[in-house]
This record gives sequence, C-alpha cells and structure tokens, in this order.
Amino acid sequence: MNDKGLLIVLSGPSGTGKGTIVKKLLEKNSTCLSVSMTTRTPRVGEEEGKSYFFVSRETFLEKVEQGKMLEYAEYNGNFYGTPREFVEQKSAAGQDVILEIEVQGALKVKSACPDAVMVFIMAPNMQELKNRLVMRKTEDEQTIQNRMNIAKRELEKADQYDYIVINDTVDKAAEDILAIIGAEKCSKKRREKFINEVKKQC
Ligand code: 5GP
Repeated sequence: MNDKGLLIVLSGPSGTGKGTIVKKLLEKNSTCLSVSMTTRTPRVGEEEGKSYFFVSRETFLEKVEQGKMLEYAEYNGNFYGTPREFVEQKSAAGQDVILEIEVQGALKVKSACPDAVMVFIMAPNMQELKNRLVMRKTEDEQTIQNRMNIAKRELEKADQYDYIVINDTVDKAAEDILAIIGAEKCSKKRREKFINEVKKQC
C-alpha cells in the first residue's frame, strides 16, 4: 500500500526557531525538507541548493509563469516560493515532506492541498522573539523591526492552522511535531483505505 506522504507545513514568525526545529526533525524522522527558491541574497554560511535556491527576480517570476511553484509569497521585499516538482514527486512516493514557509504562502498551500498538516510555531512571547532575532546577528535593526511587525500580522492568522507549537526548547518543540505527525498518520481519514482492505477480509 503506497499511500501519499504527509505534507507538513511549518510556519511562524521569523526568529521563532523554525529552522533549528526542522534540523532536529530531519535527524529524528524520515521526513524530507523542500528547499525553497528565493530572491533574497544569501546570508553568511548559507549554501546554494541546501539553504535555498538563490535566484534573480526575473528567474523567480519566470518559474511562477511556468507554473513551477506550488506557492510563493513576497516577504519583506523578497520573493520566496516552493518548487512544485520536488514536493509532488516525494509525496507521490509516500514520503513525508516538510515546507518551512511564511503564513501567506502556507495559506495558499492549505487551499490547494486541504490535507496538508498546518503547524504554527511561536516563541513563548514577543520579547523572546525579538531577543532571538537580535541574538542571531544576521539582520540590521530596521530588518528586525520589519520582521517584528510582520510577526504581529502573522499571529492574526494562527487560528487558521491545525496545531500551535510553542518553541520554548527545541527538543520539546520537535517532540511535539513528531507527536502531531504520528497522530495524523493514525487519523481516520488516512486510515480509510486500510479499514476498507481489512473489511474485505471479513
Ligand atoms: P528568511 O529570509 O528568514 O530565510 O525567511 C523569511 C521567511 O520566508 C520565513 O518566515 C520563512 O519561513 C519564509 N519562507 C522560506 N521559504 C519560503 C517559501 O518557499 N515560501 C514562502 N511562502 N515562504 C518561505
């Protein structure tokens, strides 16, 4: 029985610690991560094809025109998007795929793929969110302020997600997400095929 894999959408304000949680999840689980495309310039230490596919605005918009993006959004002046082919191939092969994306794009995925598991990740409070943005030393003060303003707008959309995970410690947040994945796999809508198969044996 080769069921489609889960599409797990993780979003939440910048600085919440999504990236660190994802690393933990990939260590502990056979999930794979979709590498996004962006027009943002690389930060120190970021690698082409691993952190993102870094492209020009022209190339990005060409991919959109060609229907090659599952979703995309503009965030703080740059485009970010999910290449469609990787997600569709992995999912059809029964592999779970994680999308680590911001809220506008996440809600587009929810409309296009209603079965997607929507997880909103948040720091324990706004001050801690700001501390984390400052501590990572990758953004200037103006960018941090922009990201805090975006965070307030993103929080307004949290009620459109299926689960809210509080990232107090990375280990606990990753455990919570693994528990969500486990529960989703046992949900009755995903077990329908199994139950029908077993019924045939009666
Ligand atoms: P950053 O510049 O910090 O790497 O990412 C900024 C925001 O863009 C983060 O909230 C991140 O989750 C989001 N993001 C990364 N990739 C994608 C994507 O493919 N689509 C969308 N909609 N957002 C993304």
